[in-house]
Amino acid sequence: MEKEKLESVKALVRNIPDFPVPGIQFKDLTTAFKDARALNLMADAMEEIYKGRGVTKVVGIESRGFICGALLASRLGAGFVPIRKPGKLPADTISMSYEKEYGTDTIEIHSDAICSDDIVVLHDDLLATGGTMLAAYQLVKSMNPRAIYINFLCGLKGLNGRDVLPADVEVTTLFDFDGK
Ligand code: AMP
Repeated sequence: MEKEKLESVKALVRNIPDFPVPGIQFKDLTTAFKDARALNLMADAMEEIYKGRGVTKVVGIESRGFICGALLASRLGAGFVPIRKPGKLPADTISMSYEKEYGTDTIEIHSDAICSDDIVVLHDDLLATGGTMLAAYQLVKSMNPRAIYINFLCGLKGLNGRDVLPADVEVTTLFDFDGK
């Protein structure tokens, strides 16, 4: 997709200084999601990247990864699988814990959600440090799908989150912000 179109989506993202804690520049994507043209452009751009690649499941990370993750799944004719915080999924789960700046976090997926025939796109709204996506990748990788791709709507270049994700995995963003 032409860069200008994605730049027009990026321009709709609202920056909220010091949210949820001082020092964080929070990228509020709800202002892009509520714009019908922007929402459709994001779906078009993701579809362009992954169509024809045999994707069978899109895995979205709670909660902002559910919005465009489900849209992408629908565009590709694939299924949608949620990764959630502990205690939210009702059936048998497998989980992965990871270190955050302060303490640990855990994410879960239904243990029957992915099979060895699946080709998976892991999706979240934003790549910051990459810690959450790395844990999600390790969780899905342990279920032995045929392939895993990683997609974000946007990335914060200043945090170098790409570097914590495996070098041999294709990682895409639709647009990026320069700072942290
Ligand atoms: P991380 O594990 O650091 O890559 O970030 C985990 C999650 O926190 C991402 O999925 C984002 O949804 C959210 N997040 C982190 N930093 C920001 C930010 N500056 N603006 C908006 N969302 C953020």
